[in-house]
Amino acid sequence: MKIYISGLYSGTNPQPGVGIARSLRTAYPKAKLIGVEYSNRCSGIHWQDFDEIWLQRPWNELNLTTHTEEIRRVLDSGALWISSIDLEIMWFAGVFPDGHPNLLTPSSAALEQVEKPAVPAHEGLPVKIPTFVTTEISDWDLHAFCREHDWKVWLKGPYYEAVRTRSWAEFEEKRHILSNDWATGRLFLQTHVSGYEESIALSAYEGELIDCVRMRKRDLTELSKTWAGDISEVEAEFIEPLREIIRKINWTGGAELEMVRDADDQLWLLEVNPRFPAWIHGATITGRNMPASLVEGATGLTAKNSPALAEEFTRVVMEIPVRSEFPLSPLPEPLGGTIGHSLKHPSGLLQFASRLHNLSSFDEEKSNGGGKSSQFKAPNVPPSFINDLGGLDLTAMETPASLFLENTAAEYFRKAGELADDLSSDALAVTNAYSIKTNPDERLIKLALESGFLAETISLPEVKKAIKIGFKPEQIILNGPGKWWRRENLPDGKFCSIFCDSIEELNRVIENLESGELQTEHLGVRLRTPNVASRFGIPVDTPEVFERLIEAVRRIPKEYKFAAHFHMASSNVGVGHWWHLFESILRWCGSIEALSGRLIEVLDVGGGWFPEDLQKDSSRNFKKAVALIPEFLPHVRRIISEPGKALAQPSMAVAMQILELRNFENVVHEAVVDGSIAELPMYFFYPHRILYQNPQNGGWKPLGRGKTKLLGRLCMEHDIVASNIELPENTQIGDILVFCDAGAYDRSMSYVFGRG
Ligand SMILES: *Cc1c(COP(=O)(O)O)cnc(C)c1O
Repeated sequence: MKIYISGLYSGTNPQPGVGIARSLRTAYPKAKLIGVEYSNRCSGIHWQDFDEIWLQRPWNELNLTTHTEEIRRVLDSGALWISSIDLEIMWFAGVFPDGHPNLLTPSSAALEQVEKPAVPAHEGLPVKIPTFVTTEISDWDLHAFCREHDWKVWLKGPYYEAVRTRSWAEFEEKRHILSNDWATGRLFLQTHVSGYEESIALSAYEGELIDCVRMRKRDLTELSKTWAGDISEVEAEFIEPLREIIRKINWTGGAELEMVRDADDQLWLLEVNPRFPAWIHGATITGRNMPASLVEGATGLTAKNSPALAEEFTRVVMEIPVRSEFPLSPLPEPLGGTIGHSLKHPSGLLQFASRLHNLSSFDEEKSNGGGKSSQFKAPNVPPSFINDLGGLDLTAMETPASLFLENTAAEYFRKAGELADDLSSDALAVTNAYSIKTNPDERLIKLALESGFLAETISLPEVKKAIKIGFKPEQIILNGPGKWWRRENLPDGKFCSIFCDSIEELNRVIENLESGELQTEHLGVRLRTPNVASRFGIPVDTPEVFERLIEAVRRIPKEYKFAAHFHMASSNVGVGHWWHLFESILRWCGSIEALSGRLIEVLDVGGGWFPEDLQKDSSRNFKKAVALIPEFLPHVRRIISEPGKALAQPSMAVAMQILELRNFENVVHEAVVDGSIAELPMYFFYPHRILYQNPQNGGWKPLGRGKTKLLGRLCMEHDIVASNIELPENTQIGDILVFCDAGAYDRSMSYVFGRG
């Protein structure tokens, strides 16, 4: 008996080849095991269970035609082949479309049925698939997906590799690396599921499930790979549908179903690997030798029993002698910028992936545009943006220019005012307060005043501006750590609310109120969010500080209504997380009431909402929240919400002109514009929708993703205002681009730079 085993990489993120060899050696002591590798850097080639090593050129240099012929000869001679390299398995499916009785890998039809992330074959199994989207949707929608899922998302490559991306900048960087490495833009984003990881490994031959076991990870490497695990029986409710599926898709070979079990005991299927897992020998030493059962199923030759030595296994690091015919190579040159696979795939698998794209037998990408940029969707741009732009004479403007989208802005303020009215009742008033610092443009502050908002300020100069525009002190909220800056601006009159950022401030403000220096309707504290790092507010989760807070609250004179404020940007921490924090703050507020004896009458919930999240959630979730508050804080009579960017962000855009077009390989790969990150400082934090104006008819077209970088006018390395857009084919120098969604911090934090 001769068995070829490929995939011998044996680092901390190993391939299964060595484990398969150890298991087969136990079962068939006399079999001839031939290890197949495509790099002499895979330490598994030195493993003693291999009688022979068949070392090939790396994948990028290999003559695939000759290699196919040699493998066919091997199989025809009666030898078996067990592959543990996903890409090799896919390639086999293409070059052996009808399979081969001695080739113990699945067909391309079977592979399609387990393709990630959807895994069509999972129907019938007691598992769910975590929510995912393809990265072919617009950046705008990808950002929304990440917010919706609290940035607990994985960016996954088509074959290997999954990376957590915790921010937009990180997402863009990793997407760039993965797309380049795997020569495809077809990646996907999938939500993270918290829980314990477990797998089911199986062996099957021509549609018959031979054996399967469950493995729970009990210890992990840095990359979350198995270091130790326990092996147990798969329950009948799982095996029966699994057996059906294996039959239906006519599976041959090993396989691993990678899953997570969440706190509610629900199993989530992350992926199905078309081969044995790297820990497969861990199952063998518990008495379940699946590589042997596969060989037995394929050949009918009885395997020697594998004794059950334990129910759990662990790994150790071992030094083994190097085969004299394959002496070690010098250290590799360090590879920069790659994600973990520089050492995982020393055999040129990355290059092999791009070769596979070009083979006719492997044409999965042809159906959806062959990786051309046209597969990417452009974002939806609200019609009101286009209408407002239509009313502006851009030819008369000097670019880069900030554009005020007048009707859009008015509409956002009007809707927010309406929502507050809708949510208000006799028992509970809901009020908006516009955060002036987000964008102190007078037009926006006026809109706030006209829409029945309060003004939320973080300094006395902001108070002065609000008063100048028409707010009265009793319509003004003071918040933040530096609110008494430039005290000469302190107006006469009574403020609506003062929220103290520290116990020190609270004590000082109480003194000022008692001396008559200050007046306010409500006096409150800003609470620091527990479990999320924040520099603001009074921490509640240390007992000493909490005790001092209670003492200070007790000292607040009775004539001031007591108020509580919390603020955490849902646009950063995610919408689900925000609601979680909201509830936890309500509980803390309940404790403050109980311990201080002071009742909370006003609750202020801060800002930090992405415009679409606030709109999308508004009626449903906010109704729920308003209903929830009395359960925890029955004395609250007034709820204040402090939107800033939720209203300001869509209200302005930045127009810029194209100064130069640079061609490379028949596409414009770089365009220089007269705008810059000085006018778009939030470029790194979220995507902006970009409109191109047709110079002939003045029409507007939203731009999708492509291969063009937009370089800003500044002589600064990082002044790239967009890194992957698709310009229309006949774009000319002088054409106008408008970056939308630039009315919040892009505007207020823009700076004068490079203008002489
Ligand atoms: C900045 C700020 C806001 C508004 O935040 P956005 O992110 O612009 O929505 C609300 N309240 C306070 C106290 C703030 O400092």
